[in-house]
Amino acid sequence: MKVFKIAIVGAGPAGYFAAQALQNLQNDEVKFSIDMFERLPTPWGLVRSGVAPDHPKIKTVSKVFEKIANAEGFRLIGNVEIGKDIPLSALQNHYDAVAIAVGTPKGRRLGIPGEELKNVISSADFVYWYNGHPDYQDLEIDLTGRRAIVIGAGNVAMDVGRMLALDPIELDSTDTSEIALNRFHGSSIREVSIVARRGAEHAAFTAPELRELPDLDSIDVKIQEVDISKALSRVGSEPEKHVKSNLEAMRLIAETPTKGIERELEFLFEHKPISINGSGKVESVTFETPHGEVTKECDLLITAIGYLPVQIAGLEVDGNRYRNNEGEISSGLYAVGWAKRGPSGVIGTNKSDAADVMKLLVSKLENPKASHDILLDLKESGVTIVDQAGWTRVNEAEVQNGEAKGKPRLKFLEIEQMLEIASTK
Ligand code: NAP
Repeated sequence: MKVFKIAIVGAGPAGYFAAQALQNLQNDEVKFSIDMFERLPTPWGLVRSGVAPDHPKIKTVSKVFEKIANAEGFRLIGNVEIGKDIPLSALQNHYDAVAIAVGTPKGRRLGIPGEELKNVISSADFVYWYNGHPDYQDLEIDLTGRRAIVIGAGNVAMDVGRMLALDPIELDSTDTSEIALNRFHGSSIREVSIVARRGAEHAAFTAPELRELPDLDSIDVKIQEVDISKALSRVGSEPEKHVKSNLEAMRLIAETPTKGIERELEFLFEHKPISINGSGKVESVTFETPHGEVTKECDLLITAIGYLPVQIAGLEVDGNRYRNNEGEISSGLYAVGWAKRGPSGVIGTNKSDAADVMKLLVSKLENPKASHDILLDLKESGVTIVDQAGWTRVNEAEVQNGEAKGKPRLKFLEIEQMLEIASTK
């Protein structure tokens, strides 16, 4: 029997689905010893740090991740950053193959004047902040104003818009970071505008996310009927299926009578941002529209216009992903998930995608390399490793701490705290 050592870098959905695909490809002749590296002491990637806290159902996929992690031949090597604690080249020398599953964690920039003003914040930072990512808890954000603008027409813009507009009482029973939750309770934001640069037919929202909006009790959601009728006439009688469902969901929102309550979430279309204005802090945004330039006042601006990968020595950034061909970066080096295809698709998209890449990876394996256990090198270099048992202790402690407050979990917000709990025997 041949046992191949495979490293997966990044413990998010794409990483777990890659591990699952490898586990499914095992047989009497071939087995895989899978090491999953993660720079944080906590795994699950965007399921922990990206999915909106008011969408707990989406997070239940973490049960699948834990099943994969507890299968034979799998090791979590947490709190180890590739490119910092150990170079990618060391993994390539040591393992039979390496799969990069680090996602695209940096927010894209608009590249228009005024982006450096205070309270102009990327969704990448804002989402990590409210989800308790330890590196983002010091985010400087001022929620004392009344109006927020969110630029972008994707599901992240919608998550962000909802989180800002919701009555924070609705977040009390979620795993929102305690720091963010306290700030939401003190927030004066009451009017949130999600602003798309193109017409409603081009919006990247998905219909299920749109359909839930009219049911939110604490928010009046507003879409102008004219924006939808114009979009419908532009798409003609046979629009693509997802465009049809989206426009239908948006039409329903436009037709739903408003409740006349204080908290508003409005959608604006055909507003292309051209400048962000203010002295020191954002005060307004100027948009180009079919009716000329429009300037809209705001106290907070969140840009939710996509994500980019980070630089890692040994990987070439190619637009919004790492350069790869159908997942293959170079011999023995692969990319899966957003690292492979850029920031698109829902969590489930990564399953079939990772399975295809792992098939390719496995098809190119010949004979296992002879190599020692990389943990010996890591331990020698003084890195504190969080393994599956350590993470399980953190996970259980968070869940237990949350129970007392009626939450699914109360997240630790500091790496030191996590490491302490992880190492408690
Ligand atoms: P996205 O779906 O690609 O949307 C990005 C949006 O930004 C688009 O509307 C795009 O408009 C706009 N944009 C880009 N550059 C812009 C600019 N310079 N000025 C103004 N607008 C600009 O990205 P995302 O929202 O970050 O989501 C990433 C992926 O995660 C998506 O596949 C999404 O569905 C998924 N996700 C899913 C969920 C869920 O299932 N609940 C939640 C969050 C995220 P144009 O089309 O005009 O370029």
